[in-house]
Amino acid sequence: MTSVHVEVGKNIRSVVGQMCNKELLDIVKLMKQYLSEQEVEIKSDVEKKGGKTLLQLKERIKNCQKCPLAKTRTHLVFGAGDEHAKLMFVGEAPGRDEDLQGEPFVGKAGQLLTKIINSIGLKRSDVYIANILKCRPPGNRNPEPYEIAMCQGYLLEQISIIKPKIICALGKFATQTLLNSQQPISQLRGRFFEYRNTKLIPTFHPAYLLYNPNDKRLVWQDMKKIKAEYEKT
Ligand code: SF4
Repeated sequence: MTSVHVEVGKNIRSVVGQMCNKELLDIVKLMKQYLSEQEVEIKSDVEKKGGKTLLQLKERIKNCQKCPLAKTRTHLVFGAGDEHAKLMFVGEAPGRDEDLQGEPFVGKAGQLLTKIINSIGLKRSDVYIANILKCRPPGNRNPEPYEIAMCQGYLLEQISIIKPKIICALGKFATQTLLNSQQPISQLRGRFFEYRNTKLIPTFHPAYLLYNPNDKRLVWQDMKKIKAEYEKT
């Protein structure tokens, strides 16, 4: 410490020593208020300049080790599509093909999702596609609550960057996680819910449809609702 710093320190201690507790509390309160105002200004400045992008987020999480799936993944599957998409699809987790290629929904279920997207006159590049989990659970087992808790924040960041008008939750895990509900997907699908300033509609997961093709007609009904809402945006 320089002698100037020592002198300043002594002066502060002497002033503080002469203050009563109430005065000190008032000063702390004022300082907190000042710092919080500064924080708000910095945040809004970053928002105005569009300081946060999907690319920056992808870069930040590319080596994530927050849950045990980091040890078994081949690639982290971040998500793909238009950063400014009005429609976003959220699935459960990468499968084998996705893990190998590092891209979401590229296997058989992914090909069906592409057809579903095309059925409402859109291309994959018009929408954004992501999952609740960014890494594949071994053997495609169900996600563990701990893994969802660790990973979910990344999806929320993606949503807040993209700001979609409509989110389509694919299947039970995405739906129950996003809506914080235990109701079965069969009761939730086909209805719009308010979710973080967005409309969220659950439907069946394409992987489920591969084994239950009769339910494709229900997904078609849900997609017609999405199309009608999309055209209003
Ligand atoms: S699943 Fe999510 S939390 Fe777990 S290691 Fe992958 S990115 Fe990180």
